[in-house]
Amino acid sequence: MTTHYTRAHWEDRLSTLVPNGRLFIDGKAEDAASGETFTRIRPMDGKPGAVLARGNAADIDRAVKSARKAFESGIWRHREPLEKKKIMLKWAELIRAHGEELALLETLDVGKPVMASLTVDVRLCADGIQFYAEMIDKLYDEIAPTGPNARALVRKVPLGVIGAITPWNYPMIIDAWKLGPAIAAGNSVVLKPAEQSSLTAIRLAELAVEAGIPTGVFNVVTGYGEETGKPLALHMDVDMIAFTGSTEVGKLIMGYAAQSNIKRVALELGGKSPLVVFEDADLDAAASAAAWGCFYNSGETCHASTRLLVHRSVQDALIEKIRAVTASDITLAHPFEPGAQIGALIEEAHMEKVLSMIAAGEKEGARRAFGAERVLSETGGFYVSPGVFVDTTNDMSLARQEIFGPVLAAIPFDTEEEALALANDTIYGLAGAVFTRDMGRAHRMSEAIHAGTVWINTYDMSNFSTPFGGFKQSGFGRDRSVHAIDKYCDYKTIWQQF
Ligand code: NAP
Repeated sequence: MTTHYTRAHWEDRLSTLVPNGRLFIDGKAEDAASGETFTRIRPMDGKPGAVLARGNAADIDRAVKSARKAFESGIWRHREPLEKKKIMLKWAELIRAHGEELALLETLDVGKPVMASLTVDVRLCADGIQFYAEMIDKLYDEIAPTGPNARALVRKVPLGVIGAITPWNYPMIIDAWKLGPAIAAGNSVVLKPAEQSSLTAIRLAELAVEAGIPTGVFNVVTGYGEETGKPLALHMDVDMIAFTGSTEVGKLIMGYAAQSNIKRVALELGGKSPLVVFEDADLDAAASAAAWGCFYNSGETCHASTRLLVHRSVQDALIEKIRAVTASDITLAHPFEPGAQIGALIEEAHMEKVLSMIAAGEKEGARRAFGAERVLSETGGFYVSPGVFVDTTNDMSLARQEIFGPVLAAIPFDTEEEALALANDTIYGLAGAVFTRDMGRAHRMSEAIHAGTVWINTYDMSNFSTPFGGFKQSGFGRDRSVHAIDKYCDYKTIWQQF
């Protein structure tokens, strides 16, 4: 990485940055119909940040009408596949070209280190758009085996207008997971980003139009969940909601779909993922994976490895190694510091919630091995240090509730059967991992852990070729991979009798 990415470099860029917080409807920046706005508080220093349009049902309706008009006109879905591919590839290139600006906007909104925003979030956002761009001219339809007197085409057709509702933890990445396949398949999209993280969504929409995506194909309505997300999910002319967020709101989304037009729903929800370490594991590798798996992005990760299930005989040694790797590798600092590995939590209210969950865990009997305290309060920002709790049992709140902060609960076990039962004793099923040198056991455990992704002797490795999503109350439907396109399409049969 080049050395000019100093704190001064980012301060300098910030001094000339003018974030656009307006709605993006029909290819134009718009104020909310009500004229109302709200101000984002920056998590890195608690200062007022961007001013955003406070959308409501009228704005959602305008955006849906624009998306519907674009879809029905065929201006995008009926365009030559090769041409569509080139336009989406240009969009990916524009995202890369505006990488520093997008990284800065993301960090101002969510408080993660700006270098992580640049090297992880911007990169994966552009890669995601590119992945689906490259699929556009490789999608074939089918001819069904009807016999000699008929021909039946089985066509994969776009659904129409997609409502995308996204969270604040990886805004650009999760937006791309939805925008890439939905737009590549020929749909129009109305995106409602989380109220805390709208700036990059608006910029992505501007860059889409600059790349040549027709106006109306991608609209953004900012605002609060109840005032914008709810009317989007209840809208009678939206064909599908692609939602990522909490299990609690996911349940509401299913209800809204049922109460309105039985629109399709895909849900990427919460998690409480187990990382299982057996006595024969490489403890250095396990410690590094446990620390990064739980503490990366300050623990604000749906598939964070928040439950460490560890064989009793190696628990103390493993916790010591996690302490060491956290101290040496996972630097918590102001997000503009070049060495920062983790930054601030999303907002003050969330930090207070994380701290109160920690306090509740201690009251239940969990013992703090290290960390899990508010730090850097003199900056005005919302920082909590990575921490581990021991003497935890799987029925304690620290092991059952999604904390969404850098808090690891270590739970000892004695046998493989017990480890498996603990791993699966959760309402969630997003991810898990097993660390052992016994490959038979690794395969038994990875098959039996009921989760959308299970890693063996590693954590959080992925690329666009693998589907991502959960079982149980972690939701259904998959982001990423070639399969994500299916979610945004339906099958249509055209039967011709001879
Ligand atoms: P959230 O509170 O559920 O919000 C998610 C989105 O839903 C936001 O845009 C939010 O808008 C909107 N929303 C809130 N209430 C709504 C309503 N009544 N109707 C329609 N939309 C509504 O989740 P979050 O706090 O942003 O994100 C953290 C959660 O996301 C965690 O549970 C995490 O596990 C999950 N997550 C899952 C995945 C995955 O792939 N499985 C990935 C990332 C995050 P406002 O922000 O304006 O309220």
